[in-house]
Amino acid sequence: MKHYELPVAEPLAGAAPASAPEAARGREHIVFDNLQKRYQGPQGPVAALSDVSFAIARGEIFGIIGRSGAGKSTLLRTINMLERPDSGRVLIDGADVGQLDEDGLVALRRRIGMIFQHFNLLSAKTVAENVALPLRVAGVKPAAARVRVDALLDLVGLRDKADAYPAKLSGGQKQRVGIARALVHEPQILLCDEATSALDPETTQSILALLRDINRKLGLTVVLITHDMAVIREICHQVLVLDGGRKVEQGEVWRVFGDPGAEATRALLRPLQHDLPADLAARLSPEPQGPGASGVLRLRYTGAGRAQGVPLAALAALGPGATLLHGGLDRLGGHAQGSLLVSVPAGILRQEAARAALAADQIEVLGYVAADA
Ligand code: ADP
Repeated sequence: MKHYELPVAEPLAGAAPASAPEAARGREHIVFDNLQKRYQGPQGPVAALSDVSFAIARGEIFGIIGRSGAGKSTLLRTINMLERPDSGRVLIDGADVGQLDEDGLVALRRRIGMIFQHFNLLSAKTVAENVALPLRVAGVKPAAARVRVDALLDLVGLRDKADAYPAKLSGGQKQRVGIARALVHEPQILLCDEATSALDPETTQSILALLRDINRKLGLTVVLITHDMAVIREICHQVLVLDGGRKVEQGEVWRVFGDPGAEATRALLRPLQHDLPADLAARLSPEPQGPGASGVLRLRYTGAGRAQGVPLAALAALGPGATLLHGGLDRLGGHAQGSLLVSVPAGILRQEAARAALAADQIEVLGYVAADA
């Protein structure tokens, strides 16, 4: 038998249906109960996971973030028991996967597809052969396998590349093959290990769109790890933040990204934030300098409060002298989020209405700039 390294290589017969019924959405699909994992490193034991407990709902796109070494890969790989925790449990549909015997593990891995940063395709096989391989190994008849492979290549938009070899494909096309292959046994869970990290931004967008499409069409639960916060912002419903093997934060993406509670999260998100433009930063001083100085304020919109948009009451309270300097808003999960930089005559900041607006909203005085010469 040929050697190959696919996480899903088990018979198609008996595979659970891929599509989660609408009614089942939102119920707990994967539960992590007090996971602990240590490795023996050269300098002694390393705690890769400590007291990690949380749940992933069925049909959700769930992101796990954290700096390098935070424990993301270890956590992801406990789902299909490629990594066994030292203690604690992983439950899938209520079943403790750590208790499964060999046959049980085989059945489990059939329900879990996985895609990788470097695609892991066999270069001597065509696109169709790469996708068909797990089926062939599982003993599926060639005619039935062909039907399934054709359907999957249609799904990922690669029907016309069925006979091409991986060397002739772009990175995005290779990942599409990886996705088709991961879905070959109709899994209920798709694990994505830095699946877009080797791709350029445009290709990343198209792969994310495909993952979103698959999540919607098939009702798959998608669990992904990434160092790219934009990926989380783009497609995840929920995000978990790991730091030093511990869970430091979890919640809906718009909440966690809009108002991060942990310093580790703020550090990860810093590259996404609008910083002060350099020319403005250079002119900023902590106190008003001379007559006609203006205060520079940052208005932050976290998406909390009114879901649909940003009320302009705070801006209005700053009076007609308020000037928009910089900033922008995004929409995250239907919530407007971002920040605006505004300058106002320094005198206004001493007035009661303005002070009330400052106190009531998330408005920060960053400093003052002198009147233009
Ligand atoms: P991440 O995916 O967030 O970068 P990992 O789960 O890969 O984090 O690693 C968590 C910690 O465990 C790190 O300190 C890493 O060096 C250590 N680690 C991971 N795998 C092993 C291993 N096989 N042997 C020893 N240490 C490991």
